[in-house]
Amino acid sequence: MRKKRGLALILAAALALTAAGCSSTTQATDGAGDTTAAAQTDAQQTEAAGESAVNHYTAGTYEASTSGHNGTVTIRTTFSEDAITDIEVVTSYESQGVSDKALYTELPESIIENQSLAVDTIAGATISSNAMLRAVSDCVEQAGGDPALLQVEPEKAEPQDITLTADVVIIGGGGAGLSAAVSATDNGASVIIVEKEGYVGGNTMVSGGIYNCPDPEMQQQVEMTDGVAALIEDALAEEPVSEEHAALQAAVQQEWDEYKASGATYLFDSVNWYTLQTWNGGDKVGDLELISTMTSHAYETLQWLVSMGYEYKPDIVQGAGSLYQRTHSSVEHAGIGFINCFTETLADRDAQILYNTPASEIIMENGEATGIRAEDRDGNTYTIYANQGVILATGGFAGNLEMVQEYNTSGKWPDLSQLKSTNLPGMTGDGIEMAVAAGAALRDMDQIQLLQTTSPKTGNCTFGYVAPLEAAGYLFFNSEGERFIGEDGRRDDISLAALDQTDALFYMVESGDVITDPENTYDLSGVPLTELIKSGDVIVGDTLEELCQQVGWDYETVQAQIDQYNANVDSNAVSDEYGRALFSVKQENGPWYAIPRTPSVHHTMGGVVINTNAQVLNEEGEVIPGLYAAGEVTGGIHGGNRLGGNAIVDCLVFGQIAGENCAVYGKEEVPAAE
Ligand code: ADP
Repeated sequence: MRKKRGLALILAAALALTAAGCSSTTQATDGAGDTTAAAQTDAQQTEAAGESAVNHYTAGTYEASTSGHNGTVTIRTTFSEDAITDIEVVTSYESQGVSDKALYTELPESIIENQSLAVDTIAGATISSNAMLRAVSDCVEQAGGDPALLQVEPEKAEPQDITLTADVVIIGGGGAGLSAAVSATDNGASVIIVEKEGYVGGNTMVSGGIYNCPDPEMQQQVEMTDGVAALIEDALAEEPVSEEHAALQAAVQQEWDEYKASGATYLFDSVNWYTLQTWNGGDKVGDLELISTMTSHAYETLQWLVSMGYEYKPDIVQGAGSLYQRTHSSVEHAGIGFINCFTETLADRDAQILYNTPASEIIMENGEATGIRAEDRDGNTYTIYANQGVILATGGFAGNLEMVQEYNTSGKWPDLSQLKSTNLPGMTGDGIEMAVAAGAALRDMDQIQLLQTTSPKTGNCTFGYVAPLEAAGYLFFNSEGERFIGEDGRRDDISLAALDQTDALFYMVESGDVITDPENTYDLSGVPLTELIKSGDVIVGDTLEELCQQVGWDYETVQAQIDQYNANVDSNAVSDEYGRALFSVKQENGPWYAIPRTPSVHHTMGGVVINTNAQVLNEEGEVIPGLYAAGEVTGGIHGGNRLGGNAIVDCLVFGQIAGENCAVYGKEEVPAAE
């Protein structure tokens, strides 16, 4: 009896697995056709006869397609007469880095090793993992096998209590954690990183991969315009609100005067101007000392990455929401280039990464952080002692919409709990709770950022984003075919305006002047434009009139607005009625593209209070010895609005500082920076 109920449960699980994909299609490339019914009967007969049921396959290779996170995933599975022998991805547009273990390594290897479809999925990549399991299950049926017979969980070892020690223990393997790990090992420390998910890289991997910093060489390629000069003059003309503000304005004024006196025609930029813009752009809520630590290290940290193999494109742009042309963009898709540099560097270092191992507690002894506790998904518990200290790098809480709504008290936003998030699932604010339990102070917790240009389907900011990373190349139109906001403005202003449009939906419109080689154009996550057009994620028309027909816009209205925009480019206008100040690219020639976008919750600017050494402070403003923090888990840098292109700078710069200080000074006093 017990055995039969087991089989019924197994069958139900297999049916659920098959049904979940809905759009699963199959194609036998070799071997027999549909023998599923016969195979199930065989299995049931064997079961009835009391023998253990095993699959018999028609040897060959079979192909199946199903929906993944970003589009169709097609898998090819090879069978011998009694086993799955090979699994290969034919096509996938899943996010690189996030889906790698689910599609190419760990998960398919585990299916083959265990001859099971009840193996562990990759934590943090559930959708891609389930696509793999569904597609293989489909192939099993095509080969005449019964997926139900593969729903047997592999045996696991008894959970253990494990004690480990390293010089530096890092919680979270996103950009900040990995930067800290490389920096700590640069300084001779041994490192253990505990990572909640089945992969490292965090949100950097699903970001635009953009990085701001003044770049003395590259800014010479950009021409200065009246609009940009007006931006600088406006910031300098503001009444200072503090002595620090006045001093910063004076420093920028001096640099600006020198620049003008030099007769230069290329873009003005400096660390001080970057600091002032970051602080102003965050509504003067951030801490100027922390901001200038970030801005003054930004260029050298980028060069540190370059020394590890990171590559950026040969021009600087104005990343969306960055407010200035100092954005460097990655050669590789999304932020994968940063993460690959770190993981490749760490491969040869004294650095261990424990995957699927969320930390739950920072161990405090006599007021000092001496280690952490964690538990992996197999139930093994870890006590990890840190000779030097602990670095908290768990990211923010934008993946936890309940927590976002709890802190959504600034009055800026409506209810955010029903929006989507751009974040990977692990960013649930665990680090904030652990830090508070260890005595840390928090700041700016109500400062929440939405990103305007995300996919209405997934909330993802890379999927479907087929556009230059700068506002120069696109215009926004709402569902009624009207422009409604300057595209080069602040993220919060644009998001608030977008939330007011019908269904909070708008379209990024670009012409053939911007997308010049459609066959070789990809979204930020690497999906070809041609695929996005097929799936309806991008709408295209040979002429503007044709595009308008497809979207349902009145052509005359849209054309008139584009004519006005083009006239502004011709006259080098300072700004238009929507507040746009960037007029460099004319939009005249087809084909024309409309890309649906909506705002999603993106970044939580508040978090743990740190000083410029990345040491965590308590409510009294005192250092908690041995406890460091870096990246989105911290507060005080981005204030009320993070500039686009500043998140990766923040996590890499402070990760580097935390890693070095923790390795070198640990629980001792860190000397003031020179
Ligand atoms: P940052 O940009 O500051 O590096 P991310 O959000 O990109 O932040 O990365 C944070 C990383 O921390 C992610 O890889 C996430 O899975 C991991 N993480 C979050 N909570 C925990 C936890 N409790 N234990 C271990 N890792 C965690």
